[in-house]
Amino acid sequence: MPSLKTQHQVHWLTGQLCEYDKETIYRSSITARVRFESCLSLSVAALIFGMFAISDYYILGFTWELYLLLTMRIMVVSLCLLLAFIIGRWGGYSRKLWLHALPLWILATGIILIVPLRPESLSTQVTAVVVATMAFYLLIPNLLTVVTFASLYLNIGFLVSAVLFAEISPMLTLRIALLLIMANVVGFCALLRLESLQRKQFALLHEERDQNHQLLKEIAHRKSLETQLRMVAELDALTGLNNRGHFMKLAKALLQRSRLEQVPFSVFMIDVDHFKSINDTWGHTHGDWVLTKIADVCAQALRPEDVIGRFGGEEFVVALPDTSPDDAQIVAERLKKKVAELPLKEEMSGLSLSVTIGIAVTYPAEDDLESLITRADQMLYTGKRNGRNRVVMCSKGMEEG
Ligand code: GH3
Ligand code: MG
Ligand code: MG
Repeated sequence: MPSLKTQHQVHWLTGQLCEYDKETIYRSSITARVRFESCLSLSVAALIFGMFAISDYYILGFTWELYLLLTMRIMVVSLCLLLAFIIGRWGGYSRKLWLHALPLWILATGIILIVPLRPESLSTQVTAVVVATMAFYLLIPNLLTVVTFASLYLNIGFLVSAVLFAEISPMLTLRIALLLIMANVVGFCALLRLESLQRKQFALLHEERDQNHQLLKEIAHRKSLETQLRMVAELDALTGLNNRGHFMKLAKALLQRSRLEQVPFSVFMIDVDHFKSINDTWGHTHGDWVLTKIADVCAQALRPEDVIGRFGGEEFVVALPDTSPDDAQIVAERLKKKVAELPLKEEMSGLSLSVTIGIAVTYPAEDDLESLITRADQMLYTGKRNGRNRVVMCSKGMEEG
């Protein structure tokens, strides 16, 4: 995994992420906060700017300069409030950067325009410009680049305006310029630090999320591998039934339970009759197809609690818990019938498909599984000897043909 340094580098001068896509994602992620904070801080800034109308009145009295100033303040405040509303609803600086720059430039213009109308109160205005510069950098949320240009416009515009309209001496100009440079350097460095830190924090969070996502994917992949492995280990590849080993495991557990519950337990051994001739006549592919069809029909005809497996070749084995000899006989006959009724491929129409089923029942369930299977197998071969296509039962203490 790439380190934070390579993946999320922050530009040393702009404080933005070097990768454009990542920067866009970051900006989108803070849209809601930016909207709220911009709306709030712009409203406060506009209100403070408007309230200076009181000092305008005390300094200028009812003069045309006051009316001009009031008109200008009303315009600036209205525009700022309007923009605060627009930003509050649609703002977000992943695309509409100009929308966030606009109120800063309007406020800056308002501050600059005060100089020619109130040149005698320059010292108060210098303080206001310093405070406004800091507010641009630190209070009104914005990108460092946007703030820097707006702030430079405010500071240079104010200085030029002061030289032209307040006719300040070169020495005072220099002192004000140095003060404004200082305010800008402090504001710039503070915002640069803030922007970098926020982005680094975001990048770390993102990286952690990516890693978690990778981890979850890895876990899901391993789980699917585990399932596949289990299927390979437990299921027969051709028919999808339990393989012999897994059948034995499941059937042993069922037999154990039947023993505890004192209920009968039955085992079927099912063998397809004359299967070799199916292979010989239609080929192994057709033989395979017949095997899967028989497996499906048997699996569907059983209860959910019964367990079926492929014992090998064309032989299947079924364990039926809580199944009396009579019930076992009925189920086996039903299976035999279903196999005989299986719809076959067109070219196999001459084939009469049948199975022979040997049944062994134990009650109470006292035999072990192996001896039950052996007895069912013996019954199966009795059935084969007696002409196939039949069910042959052997229950404890009795044998039936
Ligand atoms: P019987 O009625 O006595 O059971 O006769 P049979 O022909 O069914 O029995 P036999 O044991 O002589 O032949 C079983 C055949 O099943 C032989 C073997 O090639 C075939 N067979 C075993 N496994 C598969 C398989 O997975 N696919 C296919 N197509 N044939 C298989
Ligand atoms: Mg066989
Ligand atoms: Mg057979």
